[in-house]
Amino acid sequence: MKYVGAHTSATGGVVNAITHAQSIGAKAFALFTKNQRRWDAKPLESKTVDEFQKALHTSGILPKHVLPHDSYLINLGHPESDKRAKSMEAFLDEVQRCSLLGLDRLNFHPGSHLKQISEDECMSKISEAMNITLDKTQGVSLVLENTAGQGSNLGWKFEHLAQIIDKVEDKSRVGVCIDTCHMFTAGYDIRTREAYDVTMAQFENIVGFRYLKGMHLNDSKPALGSHVDRHDSLGAGKIGLDAFRFIMNDERMDDIPLILETIDETIWADEIKLLYSFVD
Ligand SMILES: [Zn+2]
Ligand SMILES: [Zn+2]
Repeated sequence: MKYVGAHTSATGGVVNAITHAQSIGAKAFALFTKNQRRWDAKPLESKTVDEFQKALHTSGILPKHVLPHDSYLINLGHPESDKRAKSMEAFLDEVQRCSLLGLDRLNFHPGSHLKQISEDECMSKISEAMNITLDKTQGVSLVLENTAGQGSNLGWKFEHLAQIIDKVEDKSRVGVCIDTCHMFTAGYDIRTREAYDVTMAQFENIVGFRYLKGMHLNDSKPALGSHVDRHDSLGAGKIGLDAFRFIMNDERMDDIPLILETIDETIWADEIKLLYSFVD
């Protein structure tokens, strides 16, 4: 069974993300639990937490089908120790917010070396930061998102994800989220049956589907291998609809949040319907 939704807006309070998800017929959703462009955030009040948990229960959406996303400012692989410490502090807060809300996973971008340290060194820092965060928290898995490889962002190669996971001690609390736009612009083709099968076999061999805890379903404005991160509506970009048809019929994507981050939120309800219509 597939659980499709979108990254809905939590403006005005986290509970609004649930209301928005319900209004578009979503069976899953993603949200920011704080303003994603700021470092600081007010702690979640118990009233807010209660309201969120009640609304989630009423919606029938399970916590494991909610995929919170952390702030864009966080870089666990930051080469400068004071800046990395600030990121780790903010990341810990993000995990604790998920935990308070009763959610079991947090989606984040691995990190960037900013051309100041080697890829290996940056990846070791990311794994170490994950280990420290896991030690201080409970019940929330850290879900690495593959990137387009724009700038000095790591995590665009499946090998990067595998290398980071390899150094994480508690493998039961680490996961991966595949963003289809990022995967495509990183150079992994999924446009034809053959290309899709090859790419997914590579993912299985290098990372492993046992780690897949979510997906972002986005078409891509830029071309294959361009390393540019620009999402498009399904079918409007360079990937095309077939890839999403393959995903909707691939049982390896069962029971995880499948989240639209496409650019026109006014058609999310239609995109969700379209995706479900692909199921054979
Ligand atoms: Zn992301
Ligand atoms: Zn994404």
